[in-house]
Amino acid sequence: MIKKNITIAIDGYSSTGKSTLAKALAKSLGYLYVDSGAMYRAITLYALDNGIIDDKGLNARLLIDHLPKIHLNFVMNPECGFGEIFLNGKNVEASIRQMTVSQWVSPVAAISEVRRIMVSLQQAMGRSKGVVMDGRDIGSVVFPSAEIKLFLTASDDIRAMRRYNELSGNGADVTIQSVKENLMARDQQDASRSDSPLIQTEDAIAIDNSKLSIQDQVDQILTLINNRD
Ligand code: C5P
Repeated sequence: MIKKNITIAIDGYSSTGKSTLAKALAKSLGYLYVDSGAMYRAITLYALDNGIIDDKGLNARLLIDHLPKIHLNFVMNPECGFGEIFLNGKNVEASIRQMTVSQWVSPVAAISEVRRIMVSLQQAMGRSKGVVMDGRDIGSVVFPSAEIKLFLTASDDIRAMRRYNELSGNGADVTIQSVKENLMARDQQDASRSDSPLIQTEDAIAIDNSKLSIQDQVDQILTLINNRD
């Protein structure tokens, strides 16, 4: 039996099933789920919609100037039981998943001024514990004292297939190859940036879920939580 609210940090490469696992855990524990990647994606969408990213690339200075005008919040969708991201009052949960956003999100997330604001919002959301948050720097930077830290991995082909199925299921016109290239490019950029690169912290438990069902993963982690002293 779970005794008290704890913080669960889930990090890992793109499309390793972090959000699927995080949602399942949050549901079974009655915890809050926060998709930190959605926040970086929403800022990227803002940059695309406001000419901050154009044919010439990303104007980081201009984006930094715009940060005070960007307001993000999550609003609970009672149908799915999870929060959906709103950008300046508009639900952008679907539009942040488009390929153009995926192509630009890593350079946006590498900007320290962006990260500083995101991290403080994320820390505020997890202040009362009872939270499952997934991302790239949750166990290393956002919640370094999280009671449970997980680092998910899965084979490149399985990750590409999962993301492809998700995108094409939503009607996107993508190929497995383009999806795989995007995943690899983001992994490389996320792991090599100077501010808060994706790393597996020493105290994180690595889980390769290539061949694990979601129920297997949830059971494994609930056992881990229950066996803590
Ligand atoms: O999790 P998701 O794939 O939606 O994240 C999109 C991108 O946001 C990542 O590739 C990464 O560049 C950035 N991100 C980050 N730190 C986080 C979560 C996401 O830099 N905590």
